[in-house]
Amino acid sequence: MSVQQNLQTVRQNIEKAKANALKPSDNLELVAVSKTYGTEIIQEVIDEGQRVFGENRVQEALGKWPELKTKNEGIELHLIGPLQSNKTTDALELFDVIESVDREKIARSIAKESQKIGKCPKLFVQVNTGLEPQKAGIEPAKAVEFVQFCKDELSLPVIGLMCIPPADENPGPHFALLHKLAQKAELPAISMGMSGDYETAIAFGATHIRVGSAIFGARDYT
Ligand SMILES: *Cc1c(COP(=O)(O)O)cnc(C)c1O
Repeated sequence: MSVQQNLQTVRQNIEKAKANALKPSDNLELVAVSKTYGTEIIQEVIDEGQRVFGENRVQEALGKWPELKTKNEGIELHLIGPLQSNKTTDALELFDVIESVDREKIARSIAKESQKIGKCPKLFVQVNTGLEPQKAGIEPAKAVEFVQFCKDELSLPVIGLMCIPPADENPGPHFALLHKLAQKAELPAISMGMSGDYETAIAFGATHIRVGSAIFGARDYT
């Protein structure tokens, strides 16, 4: 299957899922996750009208996106992977949205560096809904307080919450939890759902779905 066909299928599935959902989000955004993929195939997806993309590593994105952004208007690039504080300035320069804010240290680093360069991406707080020790994200019980800290103490533009449910579990309860936490924190954006479960995420009120392999094909990490 070509990326053009894949993208069309994903777009059709999104429309079906929205039609079947009780309360789908009015402005659902498809974030095409292009990690591990080269600029040529990414350009093909841009040529199909896609403008919102996600990358999970700052270094890899720096090698691809400055040029793609120069060539194409209206690109919105999301960082969906962990951010180290020594990469903060690079990340703030390149990304329009950072979805992986998950601890005080990185929030403080974003606040400090964004003051210096005079701009700050929109931010999501990542929540570790499955309490997985190896996974990034703030624990659910601390999420609302952390959002308030980021907004009130650091004046950061937090717009939403993001989660990656445990791979081996039914994602529904995790999506429901993230939706509830976003309401409590009074945040409008909810980033959840990947290639395997984006239709479920739409049913649970996602505003941003992050879809990689269903568009680009299986990733080759070698
Ligand atoms: C890779 C990745 C995705 C996309 O995964 P697919 O299963 O390929 O759709 C979504 N979110 C995050 C955080 C990722 O790292």
